Amino acid sequence: MKINIEKFRIPAGKKVDLDKWPTLVKPFYQSEKDYRDSLGAGLDELTGLQKKLYASNQYSLLVIFQAMDAAGKDSAIKHVMSGVDPQGCQVFSFKKPSDEELKHDFLWRSNCRLPERGRIGIFNRSYYEEVLVVKVHPEYLRPQGIDPDRIDRKALWKGRYESIVDSERHLHRNNTRIVKFFLHVSMEEQRKRLLSRIESPDKNWKFNLEDIKERERWSDYMKAYEACLAETSTDQAPWYAIPADDKRNARLIISKVIVETLDSLKMRYPVADKAKARELQEIRKLLAG
Ligand code: ATP
Ligand code: MG
Repeated sequence: MKINIEKFRIPAGKKVDLDKWPTLVKPFYQSEKDYRDSLGAGLDELTGLQKKLYASNQYSLLVIFQAMDAAGKDSAIKHVMSGVDPQGCQVFSFKKPSDEELKHDFLWRSNCRLPERGRIGIFNRSYYEEVLVVKVHPEYLRPQGIDPDRIDRKALWKGRYESIVDSERHLHRNNTRIVKFFLHVSMEEQRKRLLSRIESPDKNWKFNLEDIKERERWSDYMKAYEACLAETSTDQAPWYAIPADDKRNARLIISKVIVETLDSLKMRYPVADKAKARELQEIRKLLAG
């Protein structure tokens, strides 16, 4: 079934009301087999495009995942990227910042992990946490040397959105292409998933009591996401709000967005020039004996 990715793209420069963005849409697959076939076809395309990205050595791709807990970031990354050459793809998961990271500006730790030219870099959480979890918990600013009670917080967030947009503009200018996914899961679906982390022994390890505390701040998080998506979705580095209550459907949409983004670069394998072609023929003769 054809997926129109534009339907999920957050338009640049407009207000965002997440209640109006679906967490569930009609599935793009008819059966488990159909899902596997579609995901497999996406993987084949992605593998081919990743080879070209590597060979042409001109662009890199940064893919950012943000979401509430248990929205399916990890499994989406695993399934969507499972066919890609591990040498051409790097995944980084950003957790609470270390003491060293806190001594630097808020973009520093991710700058060191940006994908090299020719590669795909995946950020499982990212510098966006700095305008999401930190906005919900302004006390996290203290270890950054900022007293949340003595500053104009509105101006701080505005400044951070601007820094992010400027930084992404700089990356785009330097041939890093960026796509950003917000996995939009409903509170009810999250409840079910957290419950299953308690009920299934093999999922117990995933359960984290902190997730329950963060869940209580759901509406604050949604407000933070709405502001963030509105301020930082740009034509060059767009956000996609992916309905995530159905994990399979979410993966099919994500796969399609990544494939279309890479495909739009119109990459080619480098072609040997005349001198190189002559040299190759000489070597061929030698090898043929
Ligand atoms: P899952 O969806 O499976 O729960 P996860 O991405 O939440 O995976 P965790 O190890 O559970 O991984 O949590 C990482 C935690 O680190 C998150 O709660 C996130 O908000 C927090 N974090 C990430 N970056 C920052 C930051 N810059 N400041 C404060 N907290 C951060
Ligand atoms: Mg978590």
